[in-house]
Amino acid sequence: MRDVLDPSTGAVVDRVPELGPDDVDAVLTRTLDAHADWSRSNVRVRRDVLREVARLIRVNAEHLARLESAQAGKPISAARGEVGAAAEVFEFYAGAVDKIHGSTIPGNADGTLLTFREPIGPSVAIVPWNFPLLILCWKVAPALAMGNAVVAKPASQTPLTAIALAELAEGAGLPPGTFQVVTGPGGSLGEALVTDPRVRKVSFTGSTEVGSRIMALAARDITRVGLELGGKSASLVFDDLSDDQLDACVASSLWSVFDNTGQDCCARSRMFVHESVVDDFTERFVAATEAIRIGPTGDGDTELGPLISEDQRAIAEEYLASAQADGARLRTGGVRPDLPGSYLTPAVLDRADVGMRFMREEIFGPVVGIQSFRTEDEAIALANASIHGLSGTIWCRDIGRALRVARGVETGMLSINTSSSVHIEAPFGGVKQSGIGRDQGLVALEHFSELKTVFIAAD
Ligand code: NAD
Repeated sequence: MRDVLDPSTGAVVDRVPELGPDDVDAVLTRTLDAHADWSRSNVRVRRDVLREVARLIRVNAEHLARLESAQAGKPISAARGEVGAAAEVFEFYAGAVDKIHGSTIPGNADGTLLTFREPIGPSVAIVPWNFPLLILCWKVAPALAMGNAVVAKPASQTPLTAIALAELAEGAGLPPGTFQVVTGPGGSLGEALVTDPRVRKVSFTGSTEVGSRIMALAARDITRVGLELGGKSASLVFDDLSDDQLDACVASSLWSVFDNTGQDCCARSRMFVHESVVDDFTERFVAATEAIRIGPTGDGDTELGPLISEDQRAIAEEYLASAQADGARLRTGGVRPDLPGSYLTPAVLDRADVGMRFMREEIFGPVVGIQSFRTEDEAIALANASIHGLSGTIWCRDIGRALRVARGVETGMLSINTSSSVHIEAPFGGVKQSGIGRDQGLVALEHFSELKTVFIAAD
């Protein structure tokens, strides 16, 4: 058994089983049996079950939010938002089950050419600890909608909402074995799942390092992989914003990096600001950062919670030290407040440079670097000076420029004059080392299916 800790207090929230490779056979045998039935189920049955899962998430929202807040160290208001978004994922895929299908194709032979879109097969979802419930839903809902049985392995720090979701799903009428949750270490249990030849698809969200390893392991059996990996996204702030617009830009940019205490793959942890407004922007950004309310996660007014663990805080502190050693200037933050748990005040550094290690590597903590630029081309080049390409924002009134820059930035997702980048209706994912494939939207159903081409002779 393994303790699940509350990062805001260090208290034990619950204990969960610690499974290993020896447990995988029984789990996957159940998955295969369940898959045989679920993959042949009527789409309306699937629609109704998914709809009921969404309803049960909403009915149990406060319970789920408290679990999520406790295990992940999230402010309760943020956890409530995440649970609402999780219900929306099931609602979206309940409505989408019958919107994806094969086609008939004009061919040059005498007969009929058509495609079936079929379930991809028994699937594995491996998810991280930063948005444990929501990211799990991004994978499990389309997998089930497409007719696949799925085994989920949550991060060791945050298994509780995954377990609760599986219980709700069975209560919603999902046949036993169709969605199982297993808890245990990624390196042993996770790898045993990835390398089992009965698994047809691995949908992974986590670090680029582990994603690369999973891709290598999956290569042996040509197991399909979807990888949502790390990010080092940029905000580009141009010089044509009005005074009010600059305020709005600061307010939004603040949460684009510090939301979830910076433990967000989409965090815009690199801010590139036109040289004529960089001083003004930085003053306002520092003031807004210092006004963020840090506190106990159960308090409804708290805006920022702790990092997930002492280790994660130590990593952020190490990057802060390296940033300053490299010549960046710490303007605010980076101290341990007088609270139990792994808290760190959000840190703003200016005089940053993309050559510095803290501007190149994903920190996954509340640390942002600000660097100035002169020209549009330079802004694009700075944004692209990264191995990652997940998200990003352009702040600019000139729509022609905004669109030119949007076309130039190498990224999977981009927002203009807002920091919002998560829309259940639209593809979510990255380019370069931020991953392969997409979660969310109808495209996720494609990633949990295979096309079969059938030709029927006319006579
Ligand atoms: P992680 O890669 O350490 O772990 C993710 C999951 O993989 C966990 O469940 C872990 O137990 C499991 N795992 C670890 N080693 C494994 C292995 N060898 N084989 C199989 N499974 C293994 O990531 P984390 O620390 O939990 O989460 C933070 C990372 O996730 C950050 O890099 C962040 O950018 C990324 N992330 C990406 C997205 C996205 O959509 N692109 C979203 C959220 C988080």
